[in-house]
Amino acid sequence: MAWFKRTRKPIAAPDKASRVPEGLWVKCPGCSALIYNKELEANLRVCPKCAHHFRLTAADRLRTLFDGPFEVIDERLVSTDPLGFVDTKPYRERLAAGLAATGLTDAVVVAIGRIDGIEAVIASMEYYFIGGSMGAVVGELITRAAERALDRRLPLIIVSCSGGARMQEGVLSLMQMAKVSAALARLDRAKVPYISVLADPTTGGVTASFAMLGDLNVAEPKALIGFAGPRVIEQTIKQKLPDGFQRSEFLREHGMLDMVVDRRELVATLGRALRFMGAG
Ligand SMILES: [Zn+2]
Repeated sequence: MAWFKRTRKPIAAPDKASRVPEGLWVKCPGCSALIYNKELEANLRVCPKCAHHFRLTAADRLRTLFDGPFEVIDERLVSTDPLGFVDTKPYRERLAAGLAATGLTDAVVVAIGRIDGIEAVIASMEYYFIGGSMGAVVGELITRAAERALDRRLPLIIVSCSGGARMQEGVLSLMQMAKVSAALARLDRAKVPYISVLADPTTGGVTASFAMLGDLNVAEPKALIGFAGPRVIEQTIKQKLPDGFQRSEFLREHGMLDMVVDRRELVATLGRALRFMGAG
């Protein structure tokens, strides 16, 4: 039984303008400077004054990573709402809202192209689709990305940007953690490189599975990365958490990450790492 179905026809993407916050100027949450939107775009949506990393859509992420054109492996899978889940509103409505907001049928886009001259498979998570959460469709698409990377012996990069497993799919979303991890283990045994890039935020079941399984785990500066949220942890251990807890820099200092890399250096860094691992 599949917990997802293929749509009969491609779903039309909504007007692109509706996805991007409009306006000529953007106020930086890091330094409160007003930045000209075009200047921000040209700087990969990193604040030129304080280097605050604005969140990217999955598609913008792919555009910033690939050298040029890339082929989206568009499986057009849609969740079947296997539990008929309703919380404050029906899960089906949340799926429809995610589609309207992003033009995507779920929270990941997988594509093949060249990064720093090296052909690679990149899976890019879409935070604006139900918080980038992982249900059966995300798990299936990332598994297929790993399988494609294995078949063609191409390195795999997964850019995580996710609130974790999708509770509206219950245990079916939790089992994706094991399923993706098993696919990555096959990649590992075949000695095909996998690099995990953790963007803000990477939490829950995504952190607890593929985001931490890279041959190299690289995060963007100041990204929130964790499993449970700080409030839950404080209540559980009854201790105050240190400053910067669950941010990239803290995690690197404590051995949870290999590198923290500015987005403007990411392509060169990934290219260097992939070449070091024998890709290309
Ligand atoms: Zn700033």
